[in-house]
Amino acid sequence: MSETEQPQDQTPHDETPIDLTRRFIGAVTQALRKGQAQRAVRYVFEARQHQIIPDDTQLREWLVGAFEQPLFAKLIAGLVRYPCMYCEKGSESCKGCNGGGMDDRGSVCRQCSGFGVVRCDFCDGTGLATYNMIPENLRPEVLRGRIVLATTQLNRLIAERLPPTTSQRQPQQRLANRILSLNKLLGVLENARVEANRLSENPTHRSEIAGSIQQIDSNAQAAKSAVLKAIAALAARAREQSRSDSSPALREVASTRADFYEQLAKAGTLGGTALQHPFLLFDRGNTDASTESAQDTAEEVPQ
Ligand SMILES: [Zn+2]
Ligand SMILES: [Zn+2]
Repeated sequence: MSETEQPQDQTPHDETPIDLTRRFIGAVTQALRKGQAQRAVRYVFEARQHQIIPDDTQLREWLVGAFEQPLFAKLIAGLVRYPCMYCEKGSESCKGCNGGGMDDRGSVCRQCSGFGVVRCDFCDGTGLATYNMIPENLRPEVLRGRIVLATTQLNRLIAERLPPTTSQRQPQQRLANRILSLNKLLGVLENARVEANRLSENPTHRSEIAGSIQQIDSNAQAAKSAVLKAIAALAARAREQSRSDSSPALREVASTRADFYEQLAKAGTLGGTALQHPFLLFDRGNTDASTESAQDTAEEVPQ
């Protein structure tokens, strides 16, 4: 999909508000029909900024009236996947280790857990536009869309078999990629949980959001278990390498990595690492969903 074409800014001064609205509807319809949902979303953001379309309190109703249902659904799908404006795909190279995964003292870099990348602060590593960019009354639909997105991808990842412990270097990278993919989905679920908490304070949304919260929490549990399993596999692989590699230097690095991932897998909390998501309720012993426990751990989240 080409996203380079800019919407026409050179609005003739004699265009009436009705002309502008009509032109907006035409441009969005055309973009959606061509499968360019993100461009359509950009038109909405721009029209909203220039007050060509109704404000957020009326916007959903107005959009439903202006576009046929299938096009409206495509617009929502565009919002669901609309990218973060501060990062490429949610992650950036770790400054703590320059992306190498080990720090100056030869320890595994805690900031990135040895993976060399950290999450974008702005979007929590999801690569998706944050909820506050989304018009308020469209957020429940976008939230549900993102839960579906995360669930589908999570199920696909969980169904994939882990590479065998004894195989060579590439499976190690595959395990790391798997952990990072799961971590990204955890970010999607974490942002959804924060937004769901906020929406459920509003009596209009409370009941429709309750089901979403349950879905988020059960998916988050499944994702976290899969992360811990992959970390344990990574630890086993590193331990194996620490015994069998022909290079003493590589054996030592592998041993350091094995210690680190074994501890991480055993602790089970992922606290203080790039894999922690304090706003998701992993410790089911804490029955209370309050932000208190989240705030306690929030400071540990690396940048
Ligand atoms: Zn690092
Ligand atoms: Zn981002």
